[in-house]
Formats: sequence, structure tokens, C-alpha cells
Amino acid sequence: MYSPGLQVTQSRRLSNRVSVFTAEVVAFIWAVQWVEEVRPQQVVICSDSTAALMALQGGRSRLRPDLICELQPALYRAELVGSRLGFLWVPAHVGVEGNEAVDVAAKEALGREEVDVNVTMGISEYYRIIKEEIARRWQKKWEGEKRGRFYYNIQNDVSGENITQGNNRREQIIMTRLKLGHCGLAWGLFRIGKHHNGLCECGEKVTVQHVLMECSKLTTERRELFSAVLDTGIPCVSMRNLLNPVQHQRAVVKAVMDFLVDTDLHSKV
Ligand SMILES: [Zn+2]
Repeated sequence: MYSPGLQVTQSRRLSNRVSVFTAEVVAFIWAVQWVEEVRPQQVVICSDSTAALMALQGGRSRLRPDLICELQPALYRAELVGSRLGFLWVPAHVGVEGNEAVDVAAKEALGREEVDVNVTMGISEYYRIIKEEIARRWQKKWEGEKRGRFYYNIQNDVSGENITQGNNRREQIIMTRLKLGHCGLAWGLFRIGKHHNGLCECGEKVTVQHVLMECSKLTTERRELFSAVLDTGIPCVSMRNLLNPVQHQRAVVKAVMDFLVDTDLHSKV
């Protein structure tokens, strides 16, 4: 908290893991309590937190209803002691003097080891922590897992977006099968006893990787596939870029589909 008129700067180190929103509302409560004590005739409390100001204006908050409830009587008491109180939004990080001063004070407080104020966490904050912990454990398990490594090379981040690629249902089915590595290519059929050896004319196992990246019999078609992918601006062609593209998904899926048609594999996948 910073008051340019009274040259007052105050900062407190909050307990760990509370959200930025909580910290902003707690700062409002302190500011109003300070008004209640010092009793200035008129005061404007400035903040760069749109979320906290909107919660204050609406008198409710989904994230921290308890803190907004605490703030309301503090505002009422400040008015009772004769202070006229207003709130103002100020933009952050554009050189507003007071805003820069509180930023410095807040950073300094954050660097302290000792906690000044223990703020209880709200349900939403517990949910966030639980969600992060689940993702962390899931990620660790996915990294240490022995199975599913083909798919791991295409999607190694469990919290990353997992979009079903494809412009229609048929394409989505094909792309999903390619990504999982379980499809009607010879090696997959061989593993379930539906193909005599699962091998390609070139002598290698007919896997998704073999078809898309390696088979010497498909060099011409692959050249077209790679060229279509590189034309989108994607810097290199990899299994991940072909089957789980982050950008230019529509164009990449089309290039893969064209490749499958050109190589007569479209109906087999
Ligand atoms: Zn081959």
C-alpha cells in the first residue's frame, strides 16, 4: 500500500499459494482498515486489478466470497467515521507513480522469508492446487511408463491440448488411429494374427512410422507430403508435426490424407 500524500508505504508478506486475486482483495481490506484508523476526509483507493474492482463493485465473488463479505463491513465502518471513499482503476506497468511504488513494495515483501500474514485459502485455490498436483503426478507417471511410447513421442505433455485432428469424422478417425499406432497397417494386423508376416516389400515392419517417414518404396509420395507440410511454414517434418501439429492443422491433415490416398493406404488405416 502506498499513499503519495502522506508518504506512507506498507507491505506485508502473505502466506504461500494464495492467488493474485486474493492478494488484491486483501490489500483492499487493509487499505479500508487504514482509512478507518487514519480517517482522511476523502480518499481514492487505486488498483490495477480489474477482477478485484469488479468483485468489489458487484459485491460478490465466485473465487473469494468470504473476503468480499469481510470487505463490505469495513467499507461501512470507514463511512461511519466520516471518510468519503472512492475506488479507481489504474493501468499497470505504464509508469503511474503510485502503481510503480506499490509494485516495488510488493516485490520486496515477496522476497521476505518470514510470512507476515497467514491468509486462509479459498475453495478455488485448493482446487487449483489439487489440479496442479494431479497433472504433476500424471505427467511423472506418463514419463516413467514403459507402454504407449509411440504415442508419448507424439504427445508427451499430459496437460497440453489434445485436439482431435481432422476436418470430418473419417479424417478424425484416421488421425487418431495413426497417433495411437493401432490401425490396419500390416504390422498391426500381424500382431493380432490377421497378416502372415506384417512386413513391407522393402523387408521392414509396416508401422505408421515406417510408412510416413522411412519406407523407400514411398519416396515420391513422401516428398510431396513433406513439401506440403514445409510449405505451411512448419520448420521441420517429424512424427509429432505430422500427427499432432500445433499450427496449420487443416493443411497438415490434408497433406497426410493426400499421402494416404496416393500410397493406396487410405482404406487400410
Ligand atoms: Zn517399406
